[in-house]
Amino acid sequence: MQFAQPCVCYARAGKIRGRYWGHHDADRAGDVERLRAEMAGTFTRRHPDRARAFGILFPNRHLHRPQHLAQFAPLDLLNLSALMAAPRKQAQLERHITELLKCRRCPRMQSPPVSGGAITSDVIVIGQAPGPREPVLQRPFAHTAGKTLFRWLEEFCGMNEATVRSKIYFAAVCRCFPGKNSSGTDRVPAPDEIHNCSSWMNDEIRILRPRLIIPVGRLAIRQFIDCAKLEKVIGRKFRVERARHSFDVIPLPHPSGASPWHKIPPGRGLTERALRLIARHPAICELVK
Ligand code: SF4
Repeated sequence: MQFAQPCVCYARAGKIRGRYWGHHDADRAGDVERLRAEMAGTFTRRHPDRARAFGILFPNRHLHRPQHLAQFAPLDLLNLSALMAAPRKQAQLERHITELLKCRRCPRMQSPPVSGGAITSDVIVIGQAPGPREPVLQRPFAHTAGKTLFRWLEEFCGMNEATVRSKIYFAAVCRCFPGKNSSGTDRVPAPDEIHNCSSWMNDEIRILRPRLIIPVGRLAIRQFIDCAKLEKVIGRKFRVERARHSFDVIPLPHPSGASPWHKIPPGRGLTERALRLIARHPAICELVK
């Protein structure tokens, strides 16, 4: 977003004020006011869309009133730029999910892919792969593992399931149900399927530029850091770069009932430590405000 014109105007106004007002020259101060009026009028005429956006976002500021042009400070420009980028990010994410839901790259996977929706957020939770219920209920972490995960987040971060789902983006290592293996448990995605699906995650990191990623379970954790033993990584925060973006990673163990790791020492204490780290993370604190 470029705002070259008001920056130039502001700089010019400041320069003139320094040169003339220092001499307490009333006539020239009047000249400055006239020049400001001209500059504000020029900006409003040339960029009616930006002037309108400014009025909506900062109703207490009045760009059309020339005496307030100097309030168009650099801080406001940064906020304005970030706020005006949000609809673009939302549109990109919606297009991304439309494409993701059409994906059929992996012949052994049971389509369709599962998505938690286009939630623009600074925080991403990454699961392993959906189970058999998620495609039917059309949301990730829809069954027993989800119950435990949302209970953890409510207990430590103060957000119930509905709030978490509306404020945090949900992704997964693989977005389709891999089917059952011969022993009747969910099949672990194969390396080629993980590779196929990784581009969706990279695109999400590029679009959202998250501050915090929470990988849930060993398979998800391994997409970001080495994880020979859960004891070495749970309860710690890591700085990771992926898709040309740096972010914090705080891993959680998988909350499914299949593994008791998070219920017995040392897993229980380490899981609580990880959840406290998540609750204190600035990106989570902003969601809870
Ligand atoms: S697992 Fe991922 S890459 Fe494979 S078909 Fe599903 S969405 Fe596409």
